Amino acid sequence: MELFILVLIILSAFFWVFYKARIKGAIGEKTVSSILYFLDSTKYKVINNVVIKNDKVTSQIDHVVISNFGIFVIETKNFKGWIVGSEKSEFWTQIIFKYRKKFYNPLLQNFGHIKALKECLVDYPHLKYYSIIVFSNNADIKLNTSQDVINSSQLLRTIKKYSEVNLTETEKEKISQKIKSSNIIDSYDKSQHIKSIKQRINHRENTIANNKCPSCGSDLIKRKGKFGFFLGCTSYPKCRFIRNI
Ligand SMILES: [Zn+2]
Repeated sequence: MELFILVLIILSAFFWVFYKARIKGAIGEKTVSSILYFLDSTKYKVINNVVIKNDKVTSQIDHVVISNFGIFVIETKNFKGWIVGSEKSEFWTQIIFKYRKKFYNPLLQNFGHIKALKECLVDYPHLKYYSIIVFSNNADIKLNTSQDVINSSQLLRTIKKYSEVNLTETEKEKISQKIKSSNIIDSYDKSQHIKSIKQRINHRENTIANNKCPSCGSDLIKRKGKFGFFLGCTSYPKCRFIRNI
């Protein structure tokens, strides 16, 4: 009898481990490109990993979806935990219990990507752009924003809520050709991109160190706020750059 119970316990433990792994695999995180694969390909053209170079600035865009309704520019962040920040703040924070990590505001980052695409698609001034920031399903997004900052499970729904026709078939085709031909991903050396980002950050930090606003070039001034001192732009409220010190 005891042996029977022991065997039963071992067997159930074995099945538990086995099924847990299976279930986890089945509902596990889908990559954003595999989600985009489910879009109707006659309506949506998906280009993953686009690298565009304008003058000296290189932009790396995770996913571009060209549709009759406009262009979706998707930035993915595979972060879990709480995501805290605001539309205008320079950095957002990822919080997991006592662990906190600051990262550059993805809305601002994606705004830069859209700017780069606009420069590339200057022949289509009426083109509509939709910025979507996608976090993994494990992220708890604590943001007060009207913009599309979502979990990956909401991605298809979010894309489909934009249904006003903005482009003809011909324009759609021409635009995706233009983006494909501007995409330098194949010839492009990743270390070069990292170098370019580092240079930009260095330049930005040097500007701040010289008491100049990196957003608009005005002088910075030390102010006292609710949470201590910070550097603010003298062009406030026109420019809202701040840096905590
Ligand atoms: Zn400023």
